[in-house]
Order: sequence, then structure tokens, then C-alpha cells
Amino acid sequence: MGESLGAEHPLRLATALRVVLPRRDRAVPAGRADLHVHSIWSDGAQAPAAIVRAAAGRVDVLAITDHDEIRGALEAREFARAHSELGIDVVIGEEVSTLNGHVLALWIEERVPPGLSAERTIALIHDQGGLAVAAHPFHPIPHHRVGYRPLATLIPHLALDAVEVVNNSGIFSRIYDAWAALRNVEWMLPVTGGSDAHDVWYVGGALTRFHGRDASALRRDLLAGRTRAHARWSWTFDKMPRHFRMQWRSAVRFVRLNRRPIEVS
Ligand SMILES: [Zn+2]
Ligand SMILES: [Zn+2]
Repeated sequence: MGESLGAEHPLRLATALRVVLPRRDRAVPAGRADLHVHSIWSDGAQAPAAIVRAAAGRVDVLAITDHDEIRGALEAREFARAHSELGIDVVIGEEVSTLNGHVLALWIEERVPPGLSAERTIALIHDQGGLAVAAHPFHPIPHHRVGYRPLATLIPHLALDAVEVVNNSGIFSRIYDAWAALRNVEWMLPVTGGSDAHDVWYVGGALTRFHGRDASALRRDLLAGRTRAHARWSWTFDKMPRHFRMQWRSAVRFVRLNRRPIEVS
């Protein structure tokens, strides 16, 4: 009886459980961070200053995480410090192309070289006081090199600080995000949300929520496993024309970038 109720009425069962289960700590923490954003220093559409301006009012903390590059992040931090009225705290980040897939390095000051194993990359991030986050571990496009294990299969063995369970970058992201959240039941890693924005329109589309308003409060919450991740908006039909236009532009930039000796995907 119980089994058939679950199978036939999963939504009703979920609603019932929500009523029955205690509602402890329901309030969402106030701090908003987008921890995965690209600028023109990799395959993003805008300069760091434009991204910081666009982020004002949408987030409190912004990590610029260009592919294998931190100069855009450094530029963004300088701009944000010179324009404190915008209320944006910039974290220096990098999306490192490791042999096993993409790893987000946060709170770094030196560029981490691409092309190393995930294990070595994470060690280098930690050596300079940064935090390492597994980026979109179940993205349908494989980001690991041929002959190397994908990041998702290594996660239990790596010294990661968090996993990106919300990467609201496309129509199908809900599917692989849901899978990451589900698998995190095994990994029990702190969670992050990032828009993976390649255009300012997307900035803040996915958020890491934390207690406080600045980068140091966020870092504290991440280390304590107290962050939450969520998508700020859904892929409704009205967003499609703009989304596809930007995806097209992004693809053109991607092709151009691939002509240069830089790791992107
Ligand atoms: Zn990526
Ligand atoms: Zn990315």
C-alpha cells in the first residue's frame, strides 16, 4: 500500500512529508554569491568592469572564474574596490581545466596551471590558501582528457572543499544539477551555486546563499558546510530567443578562442 502510494502519487507524498516533517531553519540566508562567471579574459562576452556593474543589486559576492586565467578576476576586484557604492565583493577565481575535468579555484592570488591531475590542481589551490570546488560534475559535455577518469568518479577521493550543485547555464542544467545534488548524499560536500554566465544577462541566475554579506563570511560558511545553492530563475519560453542568440554568440567566441593555445570547453 505504502509502495503504491509513493509510486503513483510522488508529488502528493512529497507534499505530505513537507507538512509532517519539522521545519527547522527554514529561513534562507541573506547573502547572495554567484561563484562561476566568465569575462572576456576567457570566453565571456563582457569586460570585468561591466560584469561588476551588472552584478550590483543581484549579488553581494561575485567570483570571476575564467578558464585557466585570473587577470579578469584581478581587474574586476580592482574595479569593485574603486566603486564600493556598487556593493560587490569580488573573489579571485579560475576555472581550471584539469586532466579530469573542470575545478573551480576560489580565493586564489596566483594562476593555477591547466593540464594537471585534479588531485595536483587541488593541492596547488590549497597551497595558496584557496578553496577547490568541483564544477558541474555531470555536465553532458565531457571536460576530462581522453584516457583520464572524469572528475565525478574521483570526487570521493579528492580533497575538494565543495561541489557546484546548481549550474544554471542552460535548459538541461536542471537535470545534471539534480544528479549532482543526489550524488552529494554520498559525498556530503558543502554546496555552491554559480550561473556559469558567459554574458551579464545570466549573472546571478544561480546563487550560493550564505550568512553575512561579504566574501569572508561566505568563506566561513562554505568551510562550515552552511551554504545553500539555488537557481534564481527557470527556463521559461520567454527566455529562449535571447538565450539561443547568446548561445550562438558564445559558440562563435568558443571557436575563435580554440584557435588560440588556451584550454576552454
Ligand atoms: Zn566548465
Ligand atoms: Zn564555466
